[in-house]
Amino acid sequence: MEHHGVHIFGCYGRRFALDPENVEVSELGEPNLRKMEQGDVSSRAIRAYQKALDNATDPPPVASSLEFENITDIALLVSQECNLRCVYCYADGGRYDSGGYMKEETALQSVDWLIQHSGDQERICIRFYGGEPFLKFDLIKKVVNYSKRRAEEVGKRIHFCVTTNAVLLNAESINFLKENNIDVVVSMDGPKDIQDMQRPCVNGEGSYEKTVKQVRSLLKVRPETFARATVYDDSPKEKVIEGLREIGFKTPLLTHISGSMFLESSAKQDDDKLMSLIEQEGESFLKNLRDRNETYFNQGRIAVMWGRMIRQAMELFISSSKKTIHCSAGRWYVAISCTGEIYPCHRLVGVENEKIGNVFENALERDAYRAGPLPHQEKCQSCFARYVCAGSCFHDNLTATGSIYETDEIWCSLVRRTVEYGAAIAGSLTQEDKTFLQSQECIPTESACPLDLF
Ligand code: SF4
Ligand code: SF4
Repeated sequence: MEHHGVHIFGCYGRRFALDPENVEVSELGEPNLRKMEQGDVSSRAIRAYQKALDNATDPPPVASSLEFENITDIALLVSQECNLRCVYCYADGGRYDSGGYMKEETALQSVDWLIQHSGDQERICIRFYGGEPFLKFDLIKKVVNYSKRRAEEVGKRIHFCVTTNAVLLNAESINFLKENNIDVVVSMDGPKDIQDMQRPCVNGEGSYEKTVKQVRSLLKVRPETFARATVYDDSPKEKVIEGLREIGFKTPLLTHISGSMFLESSAKQDDDKLMSLIEQEGESFLKNLRDRNETYFNQGRIAVMWGRMIRQAMELFISSSKKTIHCSAGRWYVAISCTGEIYPCHRLVGVENEKIGNVFENALERDAYRAGPLPHQEKCQSCFARYVCAGSCFHDNLTATGSIYETDEIWCSLVRRTVEYGAAIAGSLTQEDKTFLQSQECIPTESACPLDLF
């Protein structure tokens, strides 16, 4: 229910008033709501609501001319080929329509391009991405050695990450990852039956046995390695988390299959089921908070994506902070294809209209990404979730609606419910709850991509 720009909603059997413009929330008991309707404005909750009402402006002014940052992070697609054929792949089996491998000249030029476009920023980051990056391990070694030398020459600190399915790891590559302090995200979907079904090899065989041995060796030297699992609405998420923990991952992260990952009917989602998963996660979040369950909070990185979204909303409402940019695509982060073309992010690689440059040229056309979808979308501007959601993923939007700015309404309704849960929790915290959350390092973190890169 909307009331003069203030959103009234129910969660946990209670009523809340959410002031979107100021990212504030107040609890409204039913008796207070009734009193308010009768014109009695004496109670504290009603005064808080009234304050929110006074603050509310409509339509809200949303960010429209944010300055661009320097580019500090790149995804380097050293291989647009893959040794697996995951059933939900958004990238055409890792090929992004064209396929191929990056040449050494393009890779080294990409490093120089990053250094140049990072301006006066001291810290830069190269994320090896694919397809499967370890199909080009030789090139990864060359890039790491070259960029370390170049970064030292210009006085920058360089950080490396790699996202891999782990199948091709061996003693040499694992040692290289350790020696060079390279952060690793392993894409793995959990126990054998799920992994084999969702992430088969090119020949159709399961990939679990081929993956798990390498992962165990990797975890011995890089125990902080993340696992990123993709789940469907009816995936047994506890089983996935347990399967990943059994292998030895301390930090399993589950991302729900999104619109951009649909492959015809193979991943048809049930919207009601998705909504009920969010309701479950909202209940689970509060219960785990009250039980002081450190495993659930996982140093602030809650395993399930809906839980991470609720956490983010909660934190924004606690600090009354606005998020105006959904992700860093085209801002401080871009992806470089194996031919040296530059795209706003890894998922948009190969989308001809979204190409924004080339590492062999200087120009970078990223005006379309200047302010994210918020100022472009009327429905975002009047949405109560606007300063938490900030307009959704460009790639998901493009896949669902044909426009990078236009969001899918079903997705919006799911996001709005996570925002309600996050706001309701923020509006109900005790001092002890806050102290516990602080001890769990539940503070907002900005990642290049909230869906794939951690
Ligand atoms: S939930 Fe939908 S309408 Fe609301 S801000 Fe997000 S993308 Fe825009
Ligand atoms: S959220 Fe979407 S647009 Fe943004 S970086 Fe991730 S995949 Fe790309």
